[in-house]
Amino acid sequence: MTGIRYIDSHAHLVGREREEGKWARTHLPRAAESGITVITIAQVPRLWEPTLKLTAEFDNVFAVLGISHPNDSKLESFEKLIKVVQDEPRVVGIGETGLDYRQGRPSDLADRKDQLREHIHIAREINLPLVIHDGKATEDILKILEEEAAPEVGGMIHFFTGTPKQAEQAIQMGFYLSFGGPHTYAKALADLVRKVPIEYLLAETDSPMLAPPKPHRKEENNPNFIIDVVKGIAEIRGVEPEVIRKATTENAAKLFRLEE
Ligand SMILES: [Zn+2]
Repeated sequence: MTGIRYIDSHAHLVGREREEGKWARTHLPRAAESGITVITIAQVPRLWEPTLKLTAEFDNVFAVLGISHPNDSKLESFEKLIKVVQDEPRVVGIGETGLDYRQGRPSDLADRKDQLREHIHIAREINLPLVIHDGKATEDILKILEEEAAPEVGGMIHFFTGTPKQAEQAIQMGFYLSFGGPHTYAKALADLVRKVPIEYLLAETDSPMLAPPKPHRKEENNPNFIIDVVKGIAEIRGVEPEVIRKATTENAAKLFRLEE
């Protein structure tokens, strides 16, 4: 797609106190000027409508829709999701969904695993890639992706922090791996940033959630910082930023089929 210079593969433009999209509107015009396209995540049904409004308003915004909150995991929500997505060409993926063990294993783990499975079924049914959230649960997630035939649609694991070996397994299943701000300075992640094959690399800000890249540590994260995420990845890999810019943009465009 012409004019796209960067793709922020994972951001939350709408959510919490940003429900109305006002915050997004303060950052998106500048992003558009810099050629930054944003994949924004509406991970619960109440965010779908304000998110789709943004995609209608800004050419450089595409949406991923999901139902990841356990309270919303009723069957009718999933049916609604299929309906909404089928009518919306600006929805380019399903999620985010996944597992999070950062606070320990949740007591309703079985339900959460079912929910991940259900998202995979929907993605396969409507043929869209999956956006996976992995909070230190890589092993279980990879197992479920395989069991539920997720490689049929592929997708991305956002803010990937698994081992290089797990990265290889994910790639073999057709999943891209996305790196964000903390990957640009967290020493424990450097090895991973160096090893992931460039054809499977994506860049994200996860704004406003994740800590921003190195030069903006004290600021609030926003999609314009994708330029510095790309620079940070390039520095660790010892290549020119242009190499990473081009690859992460082409990879994301291919994954989310932005060229079609
Ligand atoms: Zn996210």
